[in-house]
Amino acid sequence: MNKLQLLFLATGFSFIFIIPVNSQTTKTPDTKLEVGFSKGDATPKIGIKPVYIAGFGHNRKAEGISDPIYIRAMVLKAEGKKYAFVSADLIGLFKDQVDEIRKELKDFENVMFSCTHSHEGPDTLGLWGQTPFQSGTDPDYLLSLQKIAVSTIRDAAKNLTPCDTEIAAVSLPELLHDGRPPIVKMDELLTLKFNKVNTKTALGIVLFWHCHPETLGSGNKKLSSDFVGYTVKEIMKQTQAEAIVFTGAVGGLMTSLKVSIKNEKGENLNDGSYEKTERYGQLLANASLNSLKKAKGINLTPVVVRKKEVLLPVDNPIYRLAKQLGVFKREIFDWDLELNKSAGLNQREEKHPAAKTEVSIVTLGELGIGCIPGEIYPELLLGKVAKTPEKEADYQDAATEIDWFQKWKMPYKTVIGLANDEIGYILPKKQWDEKPPFAYGSKTAPYGEINSLGPDTAFFIANAFNELLSK
Ligand SMILES: [Zn+2]
Repeated sequence: MNKLQLLFLATGFSFIFIIPVNSQTTKTPDTKLEVGFSKGDATPKIGIKPVYIAGFGHNRKAEGISDPIYIRAMVLKAEGKKYAFVSADLIGLFKDQVDEIRKELKDFENVMFSCTHSHEGPDTLGLWGQTPFQSGTDPDYLLSLQKIAVSTIRDAAKNLTPCDTEIAAVSLPELLHDGRPPIVKMDELLTLKFNKVNTKTALGIVLFWHCHPETLGSGNKKLSSDFVGYTVKEIMKQTQAEAIVFTGAVGGLMTSLKVSIKNEKGENLNDGSYEKTERYGQLLANASLNSLKKAKGINLTPVVVRKKEVLLPVDNPIYRLAKQLGVFKREIFDWDLELNKSAGLNQREEKHPAAKTEVSIVTLGELGIGCIPGEIYPELLLGKVAKTPEKEADYQDAATEIDWFQKWKMPYKTVIGLANDEIGYILPKKQWDEKPPFAYGSKTAPYGEINSLGPDTAFFIANAFNELLSK
């Protein structure tokens, strides 16, 4: 019996949860749905211990606070069951920590904890300490985060109010820069609006957007939620409603950097400036609110959650070293040799390290949300992986991963990235390019591979989603 099986025995955990499935959605109003919002301030204290800012390089110590780091929660209640959806202004959180938060919330049918992936908040993963060999996390802060998350979710549940729901979608390629070839962007901003029953008065507005919050760049020394905080602020100002931004498919490299943003006088605003960050946030808020002028009513019940735990091989030598050095604090498992049997996979030894993650599908009536535990390349969702690999790519015979998202037939669908875990980049094996020469005439290895568990990650993630969808 391996460690994984032992854990399942110990916790009585089963691989797949299926919460009442009613595939027949109706067009009647959501009279039975309730929604509640809350936010908790999770800004670390500056000046006591060093606070390392996550994203970009090492040893970026925070010297102040630009705007608060929030944990924002939305709770839905349907058919007597509560479901939490969290977005934290953080770089990411490992599954081990999300599980600790869930332990305190057993009365919830599901807790989905995601991070916006802000590159201007505190290090919560360990990768951005003083040196590559030292963790940048503060254990006390990580513990406090768990408490704040739990109380914020509980507060949101106290605010539960019956609601009607609307949805709008708009394409915003101009607000997204893809920093690598091939250029493939997921540029649809999806907005959900929760209204007081039988009114158009907003209780809360929820955005699904696919961009790294990193406008303040690598030189910034003040803690910030980046553009996300400004987006929320603008929406709250214009609607007096709560707002939450969920970050989606940000792999490849979906960024606000290099996006051309002008001020009201038509002058270009620079990357790394507060002016650009604020303006970007406002533009996103305005685009969302404008799209809502043509919003359609949507039924968000029944709520169905399907989850699957997935074992992923840890091939990345940097990640393995980081774990050995204690930079990464997450449980590591032994590889399951049975998993070598799928066609086209790299073969791994019995003691090969593996990480355990979770994929889930949340269906809210007519809206499907794929909860992805990392940063997925948009081409894997949009059916845009090139049929033939570039001739310099490392795996010329690689198969294309299952196109689960395209196969998923829903009136509306989107994804939340960094959901319940952060495993790094999830990219097509056909594009994997670690060994020189490099595709697209590049002199250096592409960025994504350095921050990915390995070339077969996408295969296992896609298969798990496909399995959930065929249940
Ligand atoms: Zn990233």
